[in-house]
Amino acid sequence: MTAPQTIAETDRFTVVIVGGGAAGISVAARLRKARPSLSIALIEPATTHAYQPGWTLVGAGVMPMRQTLRQEGGLIPSDVTWIRGAVETFQPDENAITLVDGRRIGYRRLVVCPGLQLDWDKIEGLRETLGKNGVCSNYSRDTAEYTWTCIQSLRGGVALFTQPPMPIKCAGAPQKILYLASDYWRKQGTLDRTQVEFNLAGDVLFGVGHFVPALQKMIDFYGAHVHYKENLIAVDGTTKTATFSVVGPDGTTSNVTRTFDMLHVVPPQSAPDFIKNSPLSNTGGWVDVDPATLRHVRYDTIFGLGDAAGTTNAKTAAAVRAQAPVVVENLLASLDGKPVEGHYDGYGACPLTVSYGRVVLAEFLYGGKVAPSFPYDQRKPSRFAWMLKTKVFPSVYWNMMLTGRDVAIPHKVLDAEKAG
Ligand SMILES: Cc1cc2nc3c(=O)[nH]c(=O)nc-3n(C[C@H](O)[C@H](O)[C@H](O)COP(=O)(O)OP(=O)(O)OC[C@H]3O[C@@H](n4cnc5c(N)ncnc54)[C@H](O)[C@@H]3O)c2cc1C
Repeated sequence: MTAPQTIAETDRFTVVIVGGGAAGISVAARLRKARPSLSIALIEPATTHAYQPGWTLVGAGVMPMRQTLRQEGGLIPSDVTWIRGAVETFQPDENAITLVDGRRIGYRRLVVCPGLQLDWDKIEGLRETLGKNGVCSNYSRDTAEYTWTCIQSLRGGVALFTQPPMPIKCAGAPQKILYLASDYWRKQGTLDRTQVEFNLAGDVLFGVGHFVPALQKMIDFYGAHVHYKENLIAVDGTTKTATFSVVGPDGTTSNVTRTFDMLHVVPPQSAPDFIKNSPLSNTGGWVDVDPATLRHVRYDTIFGLGDAAGTTNAKTAAAVRAQAPVVVENLLASLDGKPVEGHYDGYGACPLTVSYGRVVLAEFLYGGKVAPSFPYDQRKPSRFAWMLKTKVFPSVYWNMMLTGRDVAIPHKVLDAEKAG
């Protein structure tokens, strides 16, 4: 158990890590193992750490919320100084950062991984009604359990599932819960009187074409309706109406209001404001790192990974698993004055829960190259992958990733013909 420490204004560490989520803890643990003598500080305001991939299962009644939460202090490796606070600004030319409370901390190397920001307020009326009136979201620790309440209490009617513009974390999560809810209603015998709709801002069901036919098959199986180019902009919980901005075939935009009995919302997402407003950001607001080395493109002393990174991989914990060793290797090389040679290939994974008991395990690299880890056609809904999602991955996360152990599950690029 690591206790938060009081830091003097001028404190300086060899490595400072911003954010103690999946990425920050993984990097801290690996650095501590690789070089026990390093002075490392981790800056994280929250006292509870969440295994967010579990929230899809919480929303579907498969995993209790408490199983996705642990005390942050119990995860930070011993001898890593926990600075319980939030970073506000970066002074990269001085190798320093400043916290919201005014403390200034210096570093020789900085790792930036504060995750992404959920922009709930971009949807008018959502804050007032989220968590009641049938409006739920698996994207919040406060409302994922309410998703399960909504699913169980719906006895027919209209169920809307939304997906905002990309990038978002775990791009498959908006539809995972649609499948699980539909499967539950099918088993209850109420699916035939439930109109299930997937309203998504994009124009494809899933970003990697290889998996789309398998997912479309599940959409058809449950009789769901997909509405492309529909972006949720307002919710009124009392009248149970949701308004979408819709791009028509001629490119013009109009608003459409739909009524619902249940609404599962995935909020718009962006880089955290303090990153957007910093010299570290790229034009999209994300941490401007080289996609292979994960080193900042302008500041040699800075590395970035996880959801905040301005890379085109799927923003997932699976990506973090592949990124953390690269960041650690390159950071240590740079400290030693050696070239940075570790390369991240863009690996990310999305276990799509297409029913209770079966998962389509999408694994891919930069450019949507399909890269399975297991020797079967991963487009096929599989019980094995369900077991991975519900049992193996949580255990790998807590017991291997966050403790800095290697997870030797190599993926292999599928040749273009098979992937086609
Ligand atoms: C519903 C849902 C389902 C998902 N399903 C999957 C899945 O099936 N598979 C998968 O691989 N991934 C999944 N993910 C995505 C996965 O959880 C994230 O990609 C992963 O947690 C990213 O790790 P991170 O460390 O970048 O960000 P996070 O884990 O979000 O951690 C960021 C940390 O930074 C801290 N922070 C924020 N601001 C500051 C600041 N100013 N100063 C200091 N610290 C700060 C935060 O408090 C937080 O602890 C899912 C996510 C959700 C929400």
